[in-house]
Amino acid sequence: MATFRECPSCALNAPAGTTECPFCGYEFPMSEPGSFTVAWLMIGLMILFGIPILAWLMGWLG
Ligand SMILES: [Zn+2]
Repeated sequence: MATFRECPSCALNAPAGTTECPFCGYEFPMSEPGSFTVAWLMIGLMILFGIPILAWLMGWLG
């Protein structure tokens, strides 16, 4: 999974979640419906793994 996306304007690596290049101000086209799905998938995985880990930590600490 890429955490950076190459700016087509200045060819520098901008953070993946950004909509605008922090270096040159180029606005990335929002034509990626997949990134939205991936974001929700990540949230789902975090919940899926976060809750058992949290429960384990709570049980371990308390
Ligand atoms: Zn740029």
